[in-house]
Amino acid sequence: RLRNTIQELKGNIRVFCRIRPPLPKEQRATDHPMFVYNEKGQGVVAKPPADERTRPGGVQSYPFKFDRVFDPSCSQDNVFEEISQLVQSAIDGYRVCVFAYGQTGSGKTYTMLGERNSNDANLGMIPRSIRQVFETARSMEKDGWEFTLKASFLEIYNESIRDLLLDSSANSNGKSKEENRRIIFSQDKKLSTVTDLTVETVIDEAHIQKLISQSMKNRATAATRSNERSSRSHSVFRLYVHGENDGTKECRDGLLNLIDLAGSERLEKSKAEGERLRETRHINKSLSALGDVISALATKEKHIPYRNSKLTHLLQDSLGGDSKALMFVNLSHAPESFNESLCSLRFAAKVN
Ligand code: ADP
Ligand code: MG
Repeated sequence: RLRNTIQELKGNIRVFCRIRPPLPKEQRATDHPMFVYNEKGQGVVAKPPADERTRPGGVQSYPFKFDRVFDPSCSQDNVFEEISQLVQSAIDGYRVCVFAYGQTGSGKTYTMLGERNSNDANLGMIPRSIRQVFETARSMEKDGWEFTLKASFLEIYNESIRDLLLDSSANSNGKSKEENRRIIFSQDKKLSTVTDLTVETVIDEAHIQKLISQSMKNRATAATRSNERSSRSHSVFRLYVHGENDGTKECRDGLLNLIDLAGSERLEKSKAEGERLRETRHINKSLSALGDVISALATKEKHIPYRNSKLTHLLQDSLGGDSKALMFVNLSHAPESFNESLCSLRFAAKVN
C-alpha cells in the first residue's frame, strides 16, 4: 500500500541512511561485513552475524532501499550537500523537518550537531544550516530582502517540555512549569506554539552558536539528575525565518526544525522497570506516533494522528501540506547492534 505512493511523495518526505565508521574501541575484526552497499548509493543490505545465517532457516541478508545511503567514508560535508537544498527551502518560506533516528551510539548527535574542534570538518547539520541561512540572507539583501531570524531549542522528556534556552536552575525551579508547558496549535496560522517557551531573536551567527552551546550545557547539567537523559529525550531546534522584500512587497515565513530523536533501542524486558520503564514507554510511544504520522501523510489519509505525542503535536505545523521532511536513519557498525540496526531499517521502510 505504501509503495504505490512513494513516487508522488518523493518531493516531500525522504529517507537517508547513514552508517557510522567503527570507533577505535570497535576495531576488532568482524567475521563479515554487516552492511553491503550498492553502487548507486541507494541500497544497503544488512547481513546477520554468521551464527544466525548458518542456523536452519537462517536469513542470509535483508535488503533495503533509501533515497540516499551514506557509507562510513562519507564526511559531514558530503551529507550536508544533500541537506542544503532543504535549508534553502526554509529560506524560501517552506516548513522543513530534519530528523535523526537510531539507537544510542549510532551517530545521531554527530550528524545533527557534530563536534567542534580545531577545524570545521566535524560540524553537523545544525551549525552548517545556520551558517547557510545567515550567508544566504546576507546575499539576498542586495535584492531588497530583509530577514529576521528567531530560534527556540527544547527537549521533550517523558512527554514534558523543557526549555533549553533557559539555564537548568530556571527549569528545575519550575519543574511544575516544565510539566505544564502546553502546545497550542493555531488553525488559522497553522503554527504550533509552546506556552512559556523562549523564542529568541538572533542577530548573527556567533549569537546563535552561543545559544546552542549554552543549550548543550543546560542539557548536560540536567543529565546528571537522570544519567542518560540526553539519549532518552528528543531535542528540537527550531529556526523561524521571516523575510520581507521592500521592493516587491513579498513576504515569506519559513521554519526549519532539526530534531535529534531519543535512542530507539528497546530494553530487555527483565531490565525494564521503574524510571527506565517509564522513559521507554514514552519513547516508544512518541517514536511510533511519529512513524504513524509520516505514514498517514504518505498514504494521504484523511485523519493524521498528530495528537498522539508531544513531538508530533509540536511538529504538526511542519509535517504535512507542502512542508518537507527528511529522516536520517543512523546505524552503528558494531555487530552486537545488528538487531537494533535491523529494527531501525524496518522503521525506515515503514516511513519510506
Ligand atoms: P547518538 O547521538 O546516536 O547516541 P553519537 O552521535 O553520540 O550517537 O555517536 C557515538 C559516537 O560515535 C561518538 O563518539 C561520535 O563522535 C562517533 N561518531 C558518530 N558518527 C560518526 C561519524 N560519521 N564519523 C566519526 N565518528 C562518528
Ligand atoms: Mg546523542
